[in-house]
Amino acid sequence: MKFRHLALNTAAPLAGIAAFAAIAAPAAHADTLVDNVDGIRVDADGSVQRFGAILIDDDGRVEKLYRRGAKLPKDPDYQVDGEGRVLLPGFIDGHVHVSRVGFNAIGLDLSGAATMAEALNRIADYARRNPNKPWIIGRGWNEVVWGLGRLPTAAEIDAAVPDRPVWLIRADDHAGWANSAAMERAGITVATKTPDGGRIERGAGGKPTGVFVDAARQLVETKLPAPLPEERDIALLQAQDIFLKRGITSVADMGTTLLDWQSMRRQADLGRMQLRIVSYADGVDDMVTIAGPGPTPWLYGDRLKLAGLKLYLDGALGSRGAWLSAPYADAPDQTGLQRLSGTQLRNLMSRAAMDDFQVAVHAIGDAANAEVLDAVEEMKDNYPGDRRWRIEHAQVVNPADLPRFGSLGVVASMQPHHQVSDRTMAEARLSPDRLAGAYAWRSILAGGARLAFGSDAPVEVPDVFEGLADAITRQDANGEPFGGWQPQEAISREQALAAYTAGAAYAMGADGKFGTLAEGEWADFVFVTVDPLLASPAQLREGRVLSTWIAGRKVWSAQGNVAAPASGR
Ligand SMILES: [Zn+2]
Repeated sequence: MKFRHLALNTAAPLAGIAAFAAIAAPAAHADTLVDNVDGIRVDADGSVQRFGAILIDDDGRVEKLYRRGAKLPKDPDYQVDGEGRVLLPGFIDGHVHVSRVGFNAIGLDLSGAATMAEALNRIADYARRNPNKPWIIGRGWNEVVWGLGRLPTAAEIDAAVPDRPVWLIRADDHAGWANSAAMERAGITVATKTPDGGRIERGAGGKPTGVFVDAARQLVETKLPAPLPEERDIALLQAQDIFLKRGITSVADMGTTLLDWQSMRRQADLGRMQLRIVSYADGVDDMVTIAGPGPTPWLYGDRLKLAGLKLYLDGALGSRGAWLSAPYADAPDQTGLQRLSGTQLRNLMSRAAMDDFQVAVHAIGDAANAEVLDAVEEMKDNYPGDRRWRIEHAQVVNPADLPRFGSLGVVASMQPHHQVSDRTMAEARLSPDRLAGAYAWRSILAGGARLAFGSDAPVEVPDVFEGLADAITRQDANGEPFGGWQPQEAISREQALAAYTAGAAYAMGADGKFGTLAEGEWADFVFVTVDPLLASPAQLREGRVLSTWIAGRKVWSAQGNVAAPASGR
């Protein structure tokens, strides 16, 4: 009405008439009713509401939820019969690396190799099948799984691929394994100095043996050929498929580069992006180049936004890069890597916060977590208001620091499956008595903090059912250990589901847009085979996604036959 008034009372320039016509034209109002569902919505606090039908408006937003047995609207424009299936809010993965998921899917994948011999076979086979690749690049190895008791060496790859450079990233993404040709190409010799924040594995006489940890990876990685833009695009679409298939409708991309962002924009411009991506830039330069003076607006119908900055304060436990307050139990001369000084950390956090970018800091060891919490505490007065400071992983925390997440308003972005995969390794690295604050989901929630769950894909498979089972049991798929590992830190089903939906949405500043199926939010949802609030842990692990819907449209189905998206909305 306001527009009509304006249009009639001005000199009616053409633009005004056009606007008037667009507003006043009878809206092609098309509602979709999805009925006969066993619907569950869960709020950030874990409170649950069951429903039997959902009405979606023409834009793809939730218009109304109906309790089972409630009177449903007659004659909706479209009707979908849910056949009594369980319907959940679309899953949100609070911590992934989108382009690496995609490149993994199209490159050499060593994950799942049970022995080094199997890994070496895969490497040789891949090299044979890709004779024109100048470098063999892969990832996913884990010498702990192989029972090796040491890190692998260049000589071992040389036996499989002697003539071309090979570079393989460890499963935890914190170390790389090179063959001799790669080290030669990178000019690495016994004289190569270890860079700050990194480690070069060395053998007799200080000769590098082939594994480069954290910042030392750069010695080789700066020599890798850059992927072509079209390869990036293919990888991005592969990653999107992987997430949609898992029922994941939104992700936080941790460490978006300018090249990643350009690929996301290219594909979204072409209408090929359905997945919602909230980006955290891979450093201040990328943040400023991508977004300029502040976070970008939500783009493409709330499918893409650069929200903040990703920083790394330490490394990972597996490669002894996590920064600990006391030496490693199994390496008494090491306390891990502090990758930023206290001053650097505060400067970078300030640089982001002063322009209203959100800050997400990777912190795994107890010293690293304490340092980020200290920094937030010192900066709170300068940067007041709702900042949603994030700590990524928060794996090993001094128990005295756990309540500070809540009191300082720091979001804990954690990955349930890390607890299960890392348990025995963490006990070796820290000794059991120092693990009281490890993977402490319940204590963090009890302190009033927000919890966001995710997978850290490609470090772990982005399987939400597995993550839910891990979170409520603290046991692996075989039920080990009996009774759960530090079972006092297990959380309820409702809390776990909330951390994978509303909690993760909150962590990325998307509350009110998606995550809970509240009226007015985007109708992002999944049909699944199990009720996560009733299924046994074993049934949960067997859970599967039947179809994935974003903005009220089916974007993936286990039965195939999903129409290609018509536009980028
Ligand atoms: Zn990560």
